[in-house]
Amino acid sequence: MAVFKLDNVEDLYEIGNVLGSGHFGQVREVRERATGVLWAGKFLKLKKGAGSRLGLERKSVEKEVEILQSLQHQNIMALKDVFESRAELVLIIELIKGGELFDFIAEKENLTETEAIEFMKQILEGVSYMHQKNVAHFDLKPENIMLSDKRAPNPDIKIIDFGMAHRFIQGEEYKSLGGTPQYIAPEIINYEPLSTAADMWSIGVITYILLSGLSPFQGETDEETLRNIMAMNYEFEPHYFSQTSNMAKDFIQKLLVKDQSERMTAEECLVHPWIKPLNRTQIAKRNRSSINMKNFKKFNARRKWKMSFNMVSACNRFCRLQLLCKAHGPEQQELRDCESDQEDTGTKPASLLRRRLSSSS
Ligand code: ATP
Repeated sequence: MAVFKLDNVEDLYEIGNVLGSGHFGQVREVRERATGVLWAGKFLKLKKGAGSRLGLERKSVEKEVEILQSLQHQNIMALKDVFESRAELVLIIELIKGGELFDFIAEKENLTETEAIEFMKQILEGVSYMHQKNVAHFDLKPENIMLSDKRAPNPDIKIIDFGMAHRFIQGEEYKSLGGTPQYIAPEIINYEPLSTAADMWSIGVITYILLSGLSPFQGETDEETLRNIMAMNYEFEPHYFSQTSNMAKDFIQKLLVKDQSERMTAEECLVHPWIKPLNRTQIAKRNRSSINMKNFKKFNARRKWKMSFNMVSACNRFCRLQLLCKAHGPEQQELRDCESDQEDTGTKPASLLRRRLSSSS
């Protein structure tokens, strides 16, 4: 078992504002007392006992830490330190100040494909690096693609949240049912042995959304979304893709491929003509094509609304329980302690599978 620092994190870091929340805890700004340097602290609640339903298995955080420690790349969030107490683990990570890439783009008036590709290239470089190290992220989606500093002239992409990542070991099979419906590959739904190619499917979905503001497989319900993925039920609706180059569509088509061995790898993506044009004609085509900004803004607004709706529902459940605890006295204390880190089961059915149903054999 990995041993992390046992010091009280608050002795070494001043804990600041909440930057974001996940299923198992919060991310807060922290200031290192010795140097004054700002970092982010990811506070992860651990399961209280073997029978506890809530919190994370220590082993799964150890896995996230081991993977992050092995990855040093400009486009991947860096890990500095890990502290542990009985109830939680605290990961001290690079502070990423620029927010989510999709929010940054949604603030723009327009964006050519050439400009969008500058971001895609960095995502691919980060992903290619981790795949070379046999690590798959398994949760690539807009929420996990951030920017170092949105005021910088050329901000760096930072890939975050390695909570579902896995390092492949030769000869070992790995299956997992985790992920977010819109972005998961068919082999995940089928519970087949996985490879790094599952990330490439997600990149295909992200690119499709980035260009059109449409989510290729999104149904009315998660079940419908999963059915659409299995049926490969997607098309480039002319109304939404009128400003898109054929090279971009070709790029997406080579990623949204059911057979994982036929899907483009990150390395191959980096030399696809859409990313790396071979001649002036291709360069000109990219410059003339642009993302469907009107629809992209709508997509992003809906996405943000859903995220805050999920957050508010979780808070409401917590507040109702607090009232219940007050009314029923201290015997409800244990219940309250548990609810504070309860998952948002009502609004994210497929996310229930996160970090839980994975197996190696
Ligand atoms: P999930 O439930 O999606 O697995 P999680 O508990 O693993 O979430 P993260 O996704 O890593 O947590 O982080 C939650 C949120 O905190 C992110 O969506 C982001 O807004 C913010 N965040 C995470 N890491 C950083 C960072 N290094 N700097 C700034 N903000 C961050």
